[in-house]
Amino acid sequence: MTQTDLIIIGAGPGGYRAAEWAAKAGLSVVIFEQKHLGGTCLNEGCIPTKCYVRNAEAVEMMRQAQTFGIHYDGPFDFFLHEARDRKEQVVGTLRQGIETLLGHPNITLVRAEARFIDAHTVGDYQAKAVIVATGSVPKCLPIEGAALAIDSSDLLQLDRLPESLCIVGAGVIGMEFASIFSSFGTKVTVVEFLKECLPAIDSDIAKRLRKALEKRGVEFCMQCAVKGIKPLTESGERKEVTFEDKKGKLHTVEAEQVLMAVGRAPRVFTHFKNGGFAYSNRAGIEVDDHCQTTVPGIYAIGDVNGRQMLAHAAEAQAKIAVRNILETLHSPGCQLTLDGQESMDGLIVPAAIFTNPEAACVGKSEDQLKAEGAAYECRKAFHRANGKAMAMADTEGMVKLFSEPGAGRILGCHAYGAHSADLVQEVSSLMCRKTTVGQLRNMVHIHPTLSEILLAAAES
Ligand code: FAD
Repeated sequence: MTQTDLIIIGAGPGGYRAAEWAAKAGLSVVIFEQKHLGGTCLNEGCIPTKCYVRNAEAVEMMRQAQTFGIHYDGPFDFFLHEARDRKEQVVGTLRQGIETLLGHPNITLVRAEARFIDAHTVGDYQAKAVIVATGSVPKCLPIEGAALAIDSSDLLQLDRLPESLCIVGAGVIGMEFASIFSSFGTKVTVVEFLKECLPAIDSDIAKRLRKALEKRGVEFCMQCAVKGIKPLTESGERKEVTFEDKKGKLHTVEAEQVLMAVGRAPRVFTHFKNGGFAYSNRAGIEVDDHCQTTVPGIYAIGDVNGRQMLAHAAEAQAKIAVRNILETLHSPGCQLTLDGQESMDGLIVPAAIFTNPEAACVGKSEDQLKAEGAAYECRKAFHRANGKAMAMADTEGMVKLFSEPGAGRILGCHAYGAHSADLVQEVSSLMCRKTTVGQLRNMVHIHPTLSEILLAAAES
């Protein structure tokens, strides 16, 4: 049995960042990865989808070319296999970067599946501290014909554009793919059980975003429960999805591909029982605010704890876990030098949905503030009144800024429209510094930029 300071299971954004920080602080680290370095985020999630988002933007620019005085003869072609090749190149380059990062002399990379023998023994290694960062897997509805549907990873591997796509679920993944594939020219239908898409985002913003996608041709069937999928042809090339509306009436939609996008579940294994830690009611590994499981010294970060399934949340949790490990592990040569938050309590985590138009949020939505009975002010500003948005011919969008009464501390910002993620990132930074709307009003913003929309909201 080989002794080490820290064992990490999984080299996604949670795992590889934890390895980097722990190694730089002087710990000896063993990191297991059974598949590709970079995890879901790099190989099947954030980066591949954002490559396609860029392709989709390029296609939309071509469609709007005349707005900018650009004229060309005849239609243009878009080839999915070429977009896929570009995506693979980007992913390959970034994977190489992670390999270099994990080449640190304090890190041993084990390319194999890690199995818990007991709480502090994983495979052939033993350590006082273990970080579980095994990520998540796609969920699937228990319906007849579910095997005919594909998941987001399969969709990213297609080399031929489907003529039609039915997406089950209007969460972040469903909405991003609806936007991407409708830009590519696929006929997209989204079937969603809830009244509105994107439950984590302000319902007013979510509705406007859905309407914007409808204008681009995406069909939404809201408050509809999918009942089953069946093949229409012997080869299964066309499928029929049956769903029931809120009045109990059955409907069907035909599609070449059906994407199951009903959320993701923490990736846990039966051998985890040897670790002895408990699970939360969200089916993830139960952790406290320091990311520690119910077994001291064993931490679980990222999607596997089911708290916030976002790459940057996994990274933030990696830092919290490593900070706590450094403070409890007094290993020779270990420097307690990692800055940052020690706990998830009060951690501000913004989120974005990379549709066209983009949407993003940080902090409370108006729905949450109302439900809590909180005293708040809501200020709005619109892309259509912003000079830069007009110059960009990208005027669809709105920002909602929430604060304590009297232009007090900012409580949240939910937005949709061009570069919403960047706008919300500014608000997120301000919230980290407990900034008030009054202070935001006095911060000079570059002209002309979309960030002036925030200023306009603060001044409204
Ligand atoms: P993962 O990235 O899933 O990494 C876990 C790693 O552990 C994997 O490489 C896996 O092979 C490995 N592993 C598992 N079990 C074992 C074992 N027993 N032994 C060895 N290795 C093991 N998030 C964003 O913030 N922004 C986005 O734009 C975004 N877009 C997304 C789009 C899609 C289509 C999807 C599916 C997800 C997206 N996400 C996005 C979510 C993001 O990918 C995850 O939140 C993030 O990858 C979680 O990181 P993680 O380190 O917890 O796990």
